[in-house]
Amino acid sequence: MKCPYCHNEMESGMLQSGRQIFFSKKRKKFLMLANTSEGDFVVGPMDWLYSSYSRAHHCTACNKMIVDLAAEK
Ligand SMILES: [Zn+2]
Repeated sequence: MKCPYCHNEMESGMLQSGRQIFFSKKRKKFLMLANTSEGDFVVGPMDWLYSSYSRAHHCTACNKMIVDLAAEK
């Protein structure tokens, strides 16, 4: 995949965490779970045995990351 910012080739991989990964418009100070009533959405659901993850692409040239929410898990 080509980076949409600098057009260099991106490396494919995964965004991973030992906890739930979610998008939020505001930084959470204490609660570390998505609050869907505030518009948060889960990128990688929590799993007690394995890391949560989402497919992603990273550009080493401009240090941008694209998370592919539509990719198969
Ligand atoms: Zn780039």
